Amino acid sequence: MLPQDSHVHTQWSWDALAGSMERACQRAVELGLPSVAFTEHADVTPWTLEQGEQVPEAWHPLLADGVLTPPPLDVDGYRQCLETCRERYPDLRILSGVELSEPHWHAARVQALLEAGDFERVLASVHSAPTADGSGFTEVSSRYGDQPPAEVVRAYLVETVRLIEQFEAFEVLAHIDYPVRYWPASEKPYDPYDFEEEYRHALRLLAAAGKVLEVNTRVPLHPQVLAWWRAEGGQAITFASDAHDPAALARGFGDAVHMAEAAGFRPGRDPHSFWSRS
Ligand SMILES: [Zn+2]
Ligand SMILES: [Zn+2]
Repeated sequence: MLPQDSHVHTQWSWDALAGSMERACQRAVELGLPSVAFTEHADVTPWTLEQGEQVPEAWHPLLADGVLTPPPLDVDGYRQCLETCRERYPDLRILSGVELSEPHWHAARVQALLEAGDFERVLASVHSAPTADGSGFTEVSSRYGDQPPAEVVRAYLVETVRLIEQFEAFEVLAHIDYPVRYWPASEKPYDPYDFEEEYRHALRLLAAAGKVLEVNTRVPLHPQVLAWWRAEGGQAITFASDAHDPAALARGFGDAVHMAEAAGFRPGRDPHSFWSRS
């Protein structure tokens, strides 16, 4: 049996233009997934767009003076939709959830959201970086335009460490290798060993904090990172498609499961629980 998809976006995430909770549930049932967590974006950091950068028309209302400000998560609408899906798909275990972007930069707003949402699965992640001139923030991938790729990844891991050190109210660290998704094809290929020290440092702190590491399949997590997680004392993992479209649900899970087993992790007691070290 496939594990839970622990990181899925639906229409309640502002950037999931093809998202649908209803169809994601349908897809989960078709795939025989036991459980799914709908972890919608709570993005608070405004992004300064690059000169001439285009965004989908649906986001134009979010733009002012070249800065894109993500809208707040509609917690009530999301909750109602989740309840409807739970009634319609009683055999699918549906967890409520949220993905907090840079929560350590926005402590008060994040705390209010967590109180209002009472989410069952709380992911924390870094998506943003300071702009080159330091006047604002941008999506991490934008930094590849003006920074050597290794520096983009290093800065990302440094910010991830700050998140782990400064923010407590989360369970799972999402996509520790997020910038790798956008690594420039024109450069020397990404090699996790170039960042071994930085990865191990972040993983050690994450393990000491009792958190869970996510195996994100958007770009398959390198097996070595999972091996470091275990070596640094990591106890548990989740599997995450990070789907923004129902068709991408549980994508790559077959390979990810094999990798996790080889790295010394095994399923939890329930289909919706974390995998733990064996
Ligand atoms: Zn994310
Ligand atoms: Zn996500």
